[in-house]
Amino acid sequence: MNLKRFLICLLLLSSIALAQHPAPHKKTARAAPVTRPKADPATAIHQSALIIDTHADTPQRFLDENFDIGQNTPASDGHIDLDKIKQGNLGAEFFSIWVEPEFKGDYAQRAMDLIDSVYQQAARHPDKMTMAFSADDIARAHDQHKFAALMGIEGGHAIEDDMRLLRDFYRMGVRYMTLTWSNTNEWADSSGDIQDPNVKHHNGMTDFGKDVVREMNRLGMIVDISHVSDATFYQALLVSQAPVIASHSSSRELTNQPRNMTDDMLRAMTNNGGVVMVNFYSAFIDESYRKASSDPEKIRQRDAEVAAYKKAHPHPDGSPVTYDETAGIEKKWAAQFPRPPLKSLIDHIDHIAKVAGIDHVGLGSDFDGVTSLPEGIDSVADLPKITQALYQRGYTREQILKILGGNFMRVMREVEATSKRLQDERKESDALSFEDIELMLANRVNPAQLVDRIRQHGVNFDLTPERRTRLKDEKVDDSALDAIVKARKK
Ligand SMILES: [Zn+2]
Repeated sequence: MNLKRFLICLLLLSSIALAQHPAPHKKTARAAPVTRPKADPATAIHQSALIIDTHADTPQRFLDENFDIGQNTPASDGHIDLDKIKQGNLGAEFFSIWVEPEFKGDYAQRAMDLIDSVYQQAARHPDKMTMAFSADDIARAHDQHKFAALMGIEGGHAIEDDMRLLRDFYRMGVRYMTLTWSNTNEWADSSGDIQDPNVKHHNGMTDFGKDVVREMNRLGMIVDISHVSDATFYQALLVSQAPVIASHSSSRELTNQPRNMTDDMLRAMTNNGGVVMVNFYSAFIDESYRKASSDPEKIRQRDAEVAAYKKAHPHPDGSPVTYDETAGIEKKWAAQFPRPPLKSLIDHIDHIAKVAGIDHVGLGSDFDGVTSLPEGIDSVADLPKITQALYQRGYTREQILKILGGNFMRVMREVEATSKRLQDERKESDALSFEDIELMLANRVNPAQLVDRIRQHGVNFDLTPERRTRLKDEKVDDSALDAIVKARKK
């Protein structure tokens, strides 16, 4: 038997053996075996997750570059579009309403233009994308397989020191606000200029700043402590009645950046019940990259190039040259430093999960706002790699789901519940007492006004037969008595 015949014989024999002992999952040899590759556990976890990212600067692209989120562009141009969102299985994004300090005098206008740009995108792609304003909205969009767009203001200076503007932004749909950006404002210190002796600081927050936090709690706007100074952070936690978030901050223990959070701050977040959403930016997650890219001479060169560009390309209407216009220069500059490994980002998630606890960590990419990302993460389409890496480190499905979005959903629901409680309490304290009504009658309030005030404030007393008789003696008519019964607060 030559070798060829021997091999054929062997093949025949083995196929007979196979036919006699078919593999248990192969029921029949007739149909071509449809072997669907079984998803690996990490992919299965990722695909089943509600994934929430709390910081992306894409609105500047919408507004300043006329970028349409339905356009599929290379990752070198932008980190986010609807195709990449689908590939990454991102469920919800908080689009940053970042007001560049250069827009001084027009902060609120700039914020509103950016807000409008997000709504415009949702209006253009109603089949794939929807605006969302609550945790329930996010869950509903997820059920409908639509991408949920939310908004957070980056930089408290956007409210122009006016509580009414804060409320207006809430009404427009803004659901978080970083108390500061890299600039200290009139009421809160930033980590970005805390060492600058030329900037007037407040030792944290002014009384107005603390009122801003209280009003945010009452409205149901999440207090965001990313970017703030350490003193502002601790004061915000003392004042806030609801959990806070860091929408895009990493660990200072691992990467010594002043806007990253110390372990002590992480532990304070545990007590507060809040969540730290890890920033992906290379300089915030990798000490070697941070050191290389903070070389003062190299920074000086970059800043000079940006300044020269701005000078050479002024806007005819005098409006500031935006970050997006010079981002190309910054990206090119950043590319001279080697990208850190994905491990650096995972180390930050891991560290925060260990120090603050698994219930207090999430994702705050800073996509479209940073010039360098770790290796393998070129855009939102690469989010599955994070799940993969966490799984390989031994994180369980339940833990990963918390990191990817579960923790944030819990915090958002708690912020909403706190807001409802505070609004109910205020209604309760505003409610009219029986004595208030008697006083109004003594002051000869007219009947229509009396009914109005009862409806507006509510009452905190029961209309007993005795009180009813007394009011009737005062010539209070039936419509007012009826209003009192209806306005009784529980
Ligand atoms: Zn930021």
